[in-house]
Amino acid sequence: MKEKFNLPRGTYDILPEDSGAWEYVQRTFMRIASLYGYQPIVTPIFESSNLFERSVGDSSDIVRKEMYRFQDRKGRWFALRPEGTAPVVRSYVENGMGQSFQRVCYMGPMFRYDRPQKGRYRQFYQYGIENFGSNHPFTDAEVIAMAVHFLKTLGLRGYRLEINSVGSIESMPVYDQALREYYSEYTDQLCPDCLQRIETNPRRLLDCKVETCRKIAEDAPVILDYLDQESKEHFQTVQEYLDLMKISYTVNPKIVRGLDYYCHTAFEIIGSGQGTQDALIGGGRYNGLVEQIGGRETPAIGFAGGFERLFLAMKAENIDVPQAPAPDIYLAVMGKEATILGIGILCELRSRNIFTVFDVDKSSLKAQLKAADKSGARYALIIGDDEIRRGIMVLKSLETRSQQDIALDDINSVEQVLGTPSLFPDWQQELT
Ligand code: AMP
Repeated sequence: MKEKFNLPRGTYDILPEDSGAWEYVQRTFMRIASLYGYQPIVTPIFESSNLFERSVGDSSDIVRKEMYRFQDRKGRWFALRPEGTAPVVRSYVENGMGQSFQRVCYMGPMFRYDRPQKGRYRQFYQYGIENFGSNHPFTDAEVIAMAVHFLKTLGLRGYRLEINSVGSIESMPVYDQALREYYSEYTDQLCPDCLQRIETNPRRLLDCKVETCRKIAEDAPVILDYLDQESKEHFQTVQEYLDLMKISYTVNPKIVRGLDYYCHTAFEIIGSGQGTQDALIGGGRYNGLVEQIGGRETPAIGFAGGFERLFLAMKAENIDVPQAPAPDIYLAVMGKEATILGIGILCELRSRNIFTVFDVDKSSLKAQLKAADKSGARYALIIGDDEIRRGIMVLKSLETRSQQDIALDDINSVEQVLGTPSLFPDWQQELT
């Protein structure tokens, strides 16, 4: 019996039929990111596991139970990256990027051992940006604006932006203490995870998805009442800039974000077709992280989103992605001599960036012309014995069905009839 292999649970294949949509959203993200001055950075898929333990936090769900940790042959501990910020900050510090690159964007797979469900995978693909060096509230608003701009460009409308301030690094302990006191009354009703969190990271109790914990969280002390003056002013100013940029939002004091490194602004964008728990995009300020990872004190802010949830939201809003371009030409040849000539023409057309299809396995002209129609090609280029005798090829429009004879060596005329090629129209210009 043949052995069968399956995908690991919580992963999926991106099939050719879906890859056009992937390419489109990725390209859109990169375009918007460059509009805001972000340049791509690519970091490895695995890092020392203590990078995440130190930055995301020992007590976070990610590190406690979701990280894919493994030892290499020399016994060193690594982890498949569960998120993108810590690796980017590691690279920023290690490469002394300091002043030179303050805005970076990234895309790639992340890994978390979580219970797979709609919009939640074990290998998922994130896009994100990180902005280093500015503590100005305008930067917070601008980062949020870029996230919104991206979603809008994809045609999404049914999302909502929620913002919060988790306060300064100094003000956090005061709020944490208030939460500990509040939750100490409910220890008999909290889930086992939350019971642990009271000591290790009480803010995370506000995030718990267990129904009883959610109920208890409703009356918990609100972080906005515990902000120090600086945090209040920062948060107020971020809102003024968002108003100035005409970006709608609501303040949701329950947004604390799952990771340890956040301070001041935290935000989430929730899309259509998503549960209230599942954000499309999450982000926030992390002023202490660069220093924590060994760099100089550097304010920073960023966001990340998952492509899978983006597709869910687009589906919920019936947004179609542009179709992959159809071929410019379907080359149909009949007979040995025409095949030899046709292959030369095929290479010449492709060297001019003309998207040409040739199916060597189809021998009859009829089958090739049928396939030409099915392929959606704009033109069929036909060479048979008769054409060779006359020294021509026939360029037939598959839209209008009109056709014209072109001399066998006159590729320029073919190119002229075609006009702008369907693939890489700007690339073509660069080459000529
Ligand atoms: P986080 O790093 O947890 O703040 O997540 C940022 C974004 O990544 C979320 O808003 C989601 O869009 C996406 N995301 C996080 N975890 C998963 C997952 N397990 N599966 C799919 N997308 C995810």
